[in-house]
Amino acid sequence: VKSHDVVIIGGGAAGISTAVSILKRRGGVDIAIVEPRTEHYYQPGWTLVGGGVFKREQTERQMATLMPKGVQWVRAACAGFDPERNQVILEDGERIGYKVLVVAPGLKLNWDGIEGLKETLGKNGVTSNYLFDMAPYTWELVQSMKGGRALFTQPPMPIKCAGAPQKAMYLACDAWKRRGVLKDIEVEFHNAGGVIFGVKEYVPALMKYVDKYGIDLCFNETLVAVDGAKKTAWFDVKDADGQVTREAREFDMMHVCPPQTSLDFVANSPLANEAGWVDVSGETLQHTQYGNVFGLGDAGSTPNAKTAAAVRKQAPVAAHNVLCVLDGKAPNAVYSGYGSCPLTVERGKIVLAEFAYGGKLEPTVPQWMLNGTKPTRAAWFLKEKMLPNIYFDMMLRGTETLAKPKLLPHRPASHEAQKAVDF
Ligand code: FAD
Repeated sequence: VKSHDVVIIGGGAAGISTAVSILKRRGGVDIAIVEPRTEHYYQPGWTLVGGGVFKREQTERQMATLMPKGVQWVRAACAGFDPERNQVILEDGERIGYKVLVVAPGLKLNWDGIEGLKETLGKNGVTSNYLFDMAPYTWELVQSMKGGRALFTQPPMPIKCAGAPQKAMYLACDAWKRRGVLKDIEVEFHNAGGVIFGVKEYVPALMKYVDKYGIDLCFNETLVAVDGAKKTAWFDVKDADGQVTREAREFDMMHVCPPQTSLDFVANSPLANEAGWVDVSGETLQHTQYGNVFGLGDAGSTPNAKTAAAVRKQAPVAAHNVLCVLDGKAPNAVYSGYGSCPLTVERGKIVLAEFAYGGKLEPTVPQWMLNGTKPTRAAWFLKEKMLPNIYFDMMLRGTETLAKPKLLPHRPASHEAQKAVDF
């Protein structure tokens, strides 16, 4: 069995930035990245594709151009883990050994979780910014809509970028308002949850836009089925006593955010917690059971907002701690739980939510420059003009990955971490 110092599963935001971050700290570490796809997507850009601001091509790069120099790219899908033997199993049954494993394959968009959705997605007015191919259709629908009913749906948490379902809605409303047709469109936000946004400091700014656009907020309503040809959606509506009734709603356009789960090969592995996510420490990102395994990004069990912004802060922590374990030491870099969600409340303005574990605000831009709880042009400028470059050129290539994480006072090597060097 071929073996590497570090094997990383997934060449997305988390996998690539962790690899670069390790190599920037210590050149020559033998790393393999297992990633089946030839394209890499900047998914945060899809909201702006759906809002008619970006072309979808701006959000796509060839994976080969992002693979860090010196890393071996294994172009295959991982199908399972054998942590007792320090091996991963590929789809064709081949095994690869590791000293340290980093699990970062993202999550699964569960389109099958809604009856009839797959059959109608991309036609009959049903769209989603959650797919590269579909985001342009959102903008097409927004442009052609003159009146009627538009539904926007949000499934139960956790989902990646919890703000994305409402971002799509605000940008649509803004476009309709500018065209003078908003008054003829009934806009409804059907949210499986009970609040518009989980961190209360950002709610007042969002509610102003909800009122301005005349949006009907429908909480505790989960999309369960859709019939595109009949232009009808069904929701499970939970009342205050927890009683659920199924209600039908006709629509002219519907933007769906699909339910999201862990990927099957992760959920069915010894690395998963009960909910299916890679079971890691929220601080060090080290696996709770296997000391030479780390997990980050959307696949991880950490209760942060699943965002690329979170990955930006997690990757240096993971990289530092991977090197600790390779050196036979206990990991001592800690992650604060930082995540960010730029809420595109209108074309040209954003409410920039930045927060850590427990909903504690953690702004990275000085308050005098940008108050994240208010809609600002500065935050829009950041999202449209700066963040794509920060992502591709800094997060996936260089400076960002060298960020110094917060360190705990040194702790003695745990039994599991020690095991990694005995390998
Ligand atoms: P991904 O970037 O999804 O990468 C996972 C990689 O693993 C992929 O390349 C995939 O091919 C690979 N993989 C999958 N299965 C396997 C396998 N079996 N074996 C090997 N490799 C595998 N974040 C923000 O910070 N700000 C935003 O404004 C924002 N907006 C968003 C809007 C939308 C519409 C969407 C969809 C996402 C948004 N996000 C945003 C979230 C952000 O894109 C993700 O949180 C981020 O990409 C997570 O990185 P990741 O590496 O964990 O997963």
